[in-house]
Amino acid sequence: MTTIKEETTLITIFGGTGDLANRKLYPAIYRLYAKGFLKENFAVIGTARRQLTNELFRQQVASSITSIADKSQIQEFVSHFYYRSHDVTNQESYKVLLDLSNELDSKYSLKGNRIFFLAMAPTFFNEIAVRLKSEGLVDTEGYQRLMIEKPFGHNLESAQELNDALGLAFNENQIYRIDHYLGKEMVQNVSAIRFANPMIEALWNNRHISNIQVTLAEELGVEERGGYYDNSGALRDMFQNHILQVVSLVLMDYPLSLDKSDIRAEKVRLLRSFDVPEVDEVNNFFVPGQYDANPEDATKYKAYRSEDNVDPKSTTETFVAGKLTSHSDRWNGVPIYIRTGKRLETKKTSIVIEFKNDRPNLFDDSNEQISNTLVIEIAPNESISLNINVKVPGQGLVTQPTVLQTSADSVDPNAPEAYEKVIHDCLRGDATYFSHWDEVALSWQLVDRIYEGWATHPTSLPNYASGSTGPEAANELLAKDGFKWYPLS
Ligand code: NAD
Repeated sequence: MTTIKEETTLITIFGGTGDLANRKLYPAIYRLYAKGFLKENFAVIGTARRQLTNELFRQQVASSITSIADKSQIQEFVSHFYYRSHDVTNQESYKVLLDLSNELDSKYSLKGNRIFFLAMAPTFFNEIAVRLKSEGLVDTEGYQRLMIEKPFGHNLESAQELNDALGLAFNENQIYRIDHYLGKEMVQNVSAIRFANPMIEALWNNRHISNIQVTLAEELGVEERGGYYDNSGALRDMFQNHILQVVSLVLMDYPLSLDKSDIRAEKVRLLRSFDVPEVDEVNNFFVPGQYDANPEDATKYKAYRSEDNVDPKSTTETFVAGKLTSHSDRWNGVPIYIRTGKRLETKKTSIVIEFKNDRPNLFDDSNEQISNTLVIEIAPNESISLNINVKVPGQGLVTQPTVLQTSADSVDPNAPEAYEKVIHDCLRGDATYFSHWDEVALSWQLVDRIYEGWATHPTSLPNYASGSTGPEAANELLAKDGFKWYPLS
């Protein structure tokens, strides 16, 4: 049971009329309100370019929560929301925000606690951080925290510039770099599965594990995000952040405690242990892909290059498969395969741990026994399953595979959604499931090298049909080590 502790804060959302705010942030703040984590002592300021009255803004917030809210609570909830139009580059706008913030601070007794959520294009982040400092919005008695979404830079150099600019107004402990994958229940469950089960943790090393596979497969294409995605690609959009964060939680060493600094220290140590391939070796470890039309249904499944706002000659990767290797004592010799992509056969987010299978088979089996695999499925379903061999009932000593699986009933329908968790963690000052700058810098180092390798030795794209399992080269990546991907569906 979670104890309900009421939080006191002012949340200012830059980009308060945008998609992220409406689809994710307002519903998440409402859920925290409905559960009692926010009650009397909170207020939210939305800011964006558009001119809006408080009244119209409240209507917008109300409509973003209608499908989840208790009707009797909506008016009271939205009465805590205020709007000011804002031009990021205009000093006057910040003075207006400062006055409103101070007024709300007294009205709701907010103790000077302030959270600034940047839900707008990253090009504005530097300017906002600098102005928040110069115009005094962060000079309060309480805490000041900055929540910031991906992408954090475009490469190591731009990420460093951004970090330096944010550092003028906020120190590392005040910056909450969101990776909403880390807010997912089953991703957080990885720590429990490992560290609350000595039996599992005892096997969590290169003596017993043959390979690890992390998959973040999407069935959808780029939808309306073609313009953004074409300047990004799968490596920047999914690998640099979500995949490497999930991988580091799965593989990190046993931390001294579950405190954020101990967990971060282990994640950083793990990321530092990954081998960075030489430029000419990159293609042996990382496979880019781009989806083509599906020959059987080219209208429904068109090519990436035919998507809206995408360059018809684009070489942006919509898929990446990779093999990470670590020189840590624990993982030396264990390939860690990752794959992510758009327009794949099915939506699936999973972590598969395959155990070694090198004992002689004592049974009268005609087939090989399966390798034991522990599968943590994060989406679309949440489950943990263990594939094992058992005896076929009856006479004879023959085995067959079976699955021990957590039941679907164990998924709590009231379990917090990822943004609800990340906002709640920030309110509580718990940065465990956010990315530290050291992790971000190490991930960009690897990503920059992969792009360098791909640019030096380009792959012919497109190379997989929309609706398939990805390029053939992704299968070959595992086949040359004697492995294959755990099925997507
Ligand atoms: P959006 O385009 O829907 O919204 C942008 C917001 O910024 C709007 O409120 C707009 O009015 C405001 N804005 C733009 N220029 C401004 C200016 N000069 N001054 C003041 N306000 C200005 O974008 P979004 O989809 O909500 O994304 C916001 C950020 O979050 C982006 O960095 C995006 O990459 C990131 N993100 C979004 C999602 C998502 O689900 N939408 C997911 C992950 C990350």
